[in-house]
Amino acid sequence: MDRYAPKMKNLAPRDIVARSIETEIREGRGIMNPDHQIEHVWIDLRHLPDYVHEVKLKEVASFFKTYVNLDSRTQLCPVRPSNHYHMGGIPTNAFGEVQGSAGQIVPGLFAVGECACASFHGFNRLGTNSLLELLTMGRYVGERVESYLSEKQISAPKGAGEASLALFSSYLAGTGKENVGRVRLDMRDMMTRKVGVFRHEKGVGEAIQELLTFKERAEKTSVSVRDARWNQELLERWELDNLLDNAMTIAQGALLRKESRGAHFREDYPVRSDDFQYHTLVSMTEFGKVTFGKRLIDMSLFEAKGEYSEHFKIIPRKY
Ligand SMILES: Cc1cc2nc3c(=O)[nH]c(=O)nc-3n(C[C@H](O)[C@H](O)[C@H](O)COP(=O)(O)OP(=O)(O)OC[C@H]3O[C@@H](n4cnc5c(N)ncnc54)[C@H](O)[C@@H]3O)c2cc1C
Repeated sequence: MDRYAPKMKNLAPRDIVARSIETEIREGRGIMNPDHQIEHVWIDLRHLPDYVHEVKLKEVASFFKTYVNLDSRTQLCPVRPSNHYHMGGIPTNAFGEVQGSAGQIVPGLFAVGECACASFHGFNRLGTNSLLELLTMGRYVGERVESYLSEKQISAPKGAGEASLALFSSYLAGTGKENVGRVRLDMRDMMTRKVGVFRHEKGVGEAIQELLTFKERAEKTSVSVRDARWNQELLERWELDNLLDNAMTIAQGALLRKESRGAHFREDYPVRSDDFQYHTLVSMTEFGKVTFGKRLIDMSLFEAKGEYSEHFKIIPRKY
C-alpha cells in the first residue's frame, strides 16, 4: 500500500485498498493459494503486540487460524477483496417509509438495514457504519411501524402469501439436471470477474448476457429433497433467484453509470462526473428488462454554504 496510498497505507478507504490489491494480482504480484486456487496478497501483522492479535483482532486472527491454519503473530496472512456490502437499496425516508420514484410514501411499506437506502453511506460505506445504522434506524423504524399499526386497522390482503407458496412449490417440483450450488458458484465467479472491483463496458455487457444464461440454468435446477421443512437447498434455490435479480440490476446500473464513484470503478471512465450526480432508480418486472429513473441527491447542505461547509467541499481523493 506504500505505492498506492503513501500517507494512509492500509488505512486508506476500502475501495482504494481493494483496487490496490486487485492491481497487484492483475500485474502478476499475487500469490496463488494452492488449496483454494485463488490469488491473494499478504497482510503482515507480525509487528503487532500479542494483545492486539488476541483482543483487538481476535476474530480476524481466528479466521486465519481456522480457514488457512496460519498464526497472524508469526506468519504472513492472505487477503483479497470480496463483496460484503451493498450501498443503495430500497429508497426510504428517515423513518424507513419506502418512497416511490417521485418521493411519495408507499403506505404500509417499510424497509430498514442493508436492503434499504436511507442515504447514510453514499457510494462508499465507512467501517462499522452498517451496524450503527441498523441500531439507530431499527429503533426509529420500529417506533414508526408501531404508531402506524396503532393508527390503522390492518388486515392481510386476500391471497397474501399465495404467490410465495406457489413459487416454492415450483422449486420443489423442479426436475432439471442443473445443480443449485454449481449455478451459484459459477454466477458468483463471473460477477466477481466482470462486475467486481474493476468494471468496463465490455465486461459488464458480457455479464448481462451471461446472467440471462444463468437464469435459464437456474430454471433447470432441481432440489434433492422435495420437502419444504428444514430444506437448506430449497432456501438456496430461492436465494439464487434473488441473487440473479440483484446481479442483473447491479450490472445494468454499472453499465449506465459511465463514471467512477466510491466502490463503483469503471476503468473506461476512471473519474467522477457531475453528469451522474443522482441516485439511479431501477425497477425490473421481467428478468433482464430493467427500467431506469433518477432520484436527485439532496445537496441543500452544500448549497446552503453554512458554517464548516468548506470542510465538505468535494476534493480529489489523495491518501
Ligand atoms: C463478512 C462481513 C463483515 C462485516 N463486517 C461489518 C462490520 O465490521 N461493521 C459493520 O457495521 N458492518 C459489517 N458488515 C455489514 C453488516 O454485517 C450487514 O450490513 C448487516 O448484518 C445487515 O443486517 P440486516 O439486518 O440489514 O440484513 P441481514 O443481516 O442480511 O439479515 C436479513 C435477514 O433476512 C432474511 N431474509 C431475506 N429475505 C427474506 C424473506 N423474503 N423472508 C424472510 N426472511 C428473509 C435473511 O435470511 C437474513 O436472515 C459485514 C458484512 C459481512 C458480510
